[in-house]
Amino acid sequence: MTVWLLGDQLHPESHVLDDTDRVLLIEATAVAARRPYHPQKLGLVFAAMRHARDALREAGYAVEYRRAETFGDALDAHFAAHPGDDLRLMRPPSYGAADRLRELVTARGGTLSLVRDDRFLCSSDAFDEWAGDDDSFRHENFYRWLRRREDVLMDGTEPAGGEWNYDESNRETPPADWSLPPVPRFDPDDLTRETLDWVTERFDTWGERSGFAWPVTRPEALDALDHFVEHRLPEFGAYQDAMLGGEYALAHSLLSSSLNLGLLGPREVVDAAVDAWHRDAAPIESVEGFVRQVLGWREFVRHVYRRTMPELAETDLLGRSRDLPTLYYDAETEMRCLDEAVTHVYERGYAHHIERLMLLSNFALVYGADPHELNEWFHFGFVDAFHWVTTPNVLGMGTFATDAFTSKPYASSGNYVDRMSDHCADCTYDVDATTGANACPFNALYWDFLDRNEGTLRGTGRMGLMYSHVDRKTDTEWDAIRERVAEVRRLARDGRL
Ligand code: FAD
Repeated sequence: MTVWLLGDQLHPESHVLDDTDRVLLIEATAVAARRPYHPQKLGLVFAAMRHARDALREAGYAVEYRRAETFGDALDAHFAAHPGDDLRLMRPPSYGAADRLRELVTARGGTLSLVRDDRFLCSSDAFDEWAGDDDSFRHENFYRWLRRREDVLMDGTEPAGGEWNYDESNRETPPADWSLPPVPRFDPDDLTRETLDWVTERFDTWGERSGFAWPVTRPEALDALDHFVEHRLPEFGAYQDAMLGGEYALAHSLLSSSLNLGLLGPREVVDAAVDAWHRDAAPIESVEGFVRQVLGWREFVRHVYRRTMPELAETDLLGRSRDLPTLYYDAETEMRCLDEAVTHVYERGYAHHIERLMLLSNFALVYGADPHELNEWFHFGFVDAFHWVTTPNVLGMGTFATDAFTSKPYASSGNYVDRMSDHCADCTYDVDATTGANACPFNALYWDFLDRNEGTLRGTGRMGLMYSHVDRKTDTEWDAIRERVAEVRRLARDGRL
């Protein structure tokens, strides 16, 4: 029997490694050549795999590390060396992956045993028992249920601190004299540098490799966790929705890539945050806000994805087909907010949650871009992107292609960006204007979005207030809005927005 570890299953103490000493890792280049992935994404996954290989060997495992064009080629070599072998694999979360891998293995005379994926706290059976046949999933209910079950931040049967939710305190913007908490850098060692060199030579990529500073080993990931808890967790809550010019991280944890590669486990991450609260090292607002993301949203989207695929990836409630504006690919725009967000992605393969949701997705949403192209863009551009997590976030929360777990689209005008960031003060466009040559493009697009999609959205949960504003606009106002929208679309198509 051999344990097969995929490139995002790298925890050195995963239960899949119990009672074995032989491990297989496959570096398949065809998968990496499918899209113009960010060089830091490919570099991160391959460097983390190579470091995991070395760490496992040091720990005494016999690791067979096979580099090949395809999984099939590597498995040919594996089964030539170990005819009829049984491979034990942690069930991968991406749709159809387990079946595809099983076919490859059985075609070569082997067997594949699937075991529980310990990168998540909530198993599929537990989620299905919680949800039953009801497909109208609600995050808040799931989160409270899992917090109770896991006994995280609980005071008996009540939430610790007295509230389940501190969102109201978690929507602040930092004062002008805020000193930014430090962000750790994990400078590439020789193996990582060599891997990044190979990636940039071998693949067509999108993005810069030079700023690479991601944790690639378990010890580095643990340092990243400690660093976050000490320096940024205390302010994570208050400023989690804020955006600042020139700042990509603010108080966010930057832990998603480590969690998604299995370098960190969700429970240890949650426990470290809760422990900071017990030590009075972080306020409840921050700790609850962070626990909500990891124990709540991360687990939730994974299961909603599982339950709603393959329809999730195909549907679009709003039937859009426009090309994604070229600014997503070249960051050429006078819109300061989008310039910032796309540049963060290009330089680091990362943008924080509010940039992802309220800038990058929101603009595509009100513009009417094809959400599947946006999903592809997220998929190749982000270091933490995997089909199971990108797809529900982009198609559900980001663009309302499905209403499987959000009751309304996260659509907003420039007003939201102005409230939560310092971008608008220095922008070429006027955030207070809706029409005219200088008006913030978000504004006219927003009203036009509500108007165009009225048939689907007016009756949708919590849209009443927005449509009461729509109803107050005069025909003259609508004419000017449509004219501005046509101009914005022209500029966006020509790369001149
Ligand atoms: P923090 O803000 O510090 O949050 C802590 C952790 O909570 C994250 O590391 C992550 O593991 C988890 N988390 C928070 N929100 C979510 C969520 N909605 N779904 C899943 N996990 C969550 N997350 C990814 O891991 N990969 C993606 O490809 C991805 N694509 C996204 C696309 C869109 C359009 C949106 C709106 C969100 C996306 N997210 C994705 C979720 C979230 O934005 C990122 O997890 C987060 O920004 C990662 O940065 P961080 O580690 O600094 O997170």
